[in-house]
Amino acid sequence: RTVFVNGSYLPEEAATVSIFDRGFLMADGVYEVTSVLGAKLIDWPGHCARLARSLKELDMAAPCSDEDLLAIHRELIVANGLTEGMVYLQVTRGNPGDRDFAFPDPSVTKSTLVMFTMVKTLESGNAAARKGHRVISIPDIRWGRRDIKTVQLLYPSMGKMMAKKAGVDDAWLTEDGFVTEGTSNNTWIVKGNRIVTRQLGTDILHGITRAAVLRCAADLQLEIEERPFTIEEAQAADEAFYTSASAFVMPVIEVDGAAIGKGVPGPIAARLREIYLDEMRKTAV
Ligand code: PLP
Repeated sequence: RTVFVNGSYLPEEAATVSIFDRGFLMADGVYEVTSVLGAKLIDWPGHCARLARSLKELDMAAPCSDEDLLAIHRELIVANGLTEGMVYLQVTRGNPGDRDFAFPDPSVTKSTLVMFTMVKTLESGNAAARKGHRVISIPDIRWGRRDIKTVQLLYPSMGKMMAKKAGVDDAWLTEDGFVTEGTSNNTWIVKGNRIVTRQLGTDILHGITRAAVLRCAADLQLEIEERPFTIEEAQAADEAFYTSASAFVMPVIEVDGAAIGKGVPGPIAARLREIYLDEMRKTAV
């Protein structure tokens, strides 16, 4: 695989980052994952805008212009012959040459930009979407700025492991009795013609797929409610699903052992997945 690190395209074996990099020592960094379909990037403007926001919230300088970022994405897609999968991008606050809690002076310490491609076939996603996923709920004990897409992913990783141990596919996080989001996705329920997903705030990531699916739901003339919901409300819903850049719209058929609706993927989730993918293919770059 050809990867990108700090201005150079290199074979992955040759790509290195300092042990003093603040991404490594402090999880002081942000990331984006953009899907690739037909060798093109899905919803690039959304990911690019969210990256800028994450960087700004953490007082980090952009590593290069948006145009350059897009050019590097495209170059990696071509160099790796990627037709379907993802491009991962990470910006960390760089290598100050020592370990210190204070942020280094940005005029002295440049941020570290790392990018690489990942192969993932849509077919496997489609198979999972036809079957639907089962989830458990776990307490949301993450920090309070989940709207910033940082590389602090230890608790989401632990959540995935808890799900695996429980024999299910993923975990939904709950706080004060309400679902915040999934370990790596935004969560939704459907009741009749009404679709519910948590409102934006500092307690969830502002999913790029969430925003696009809200637009699709409006096109379908579904009634949209952006508010918190409980596990009990999810269990009593007609349908549930989650959204993310790599899973698109994934039906959820069971929460904490209780079947949702008939316990099979529902028609609204399936329709939203279809419309979302159609729309995204049209605007891919
Ligand atoms: N919520 C969390 C915690 C995530 O990690 C992700 C994606 O990685 C999402 C939501 C979904 O965001 P997006 O649709 O932009 O992939």
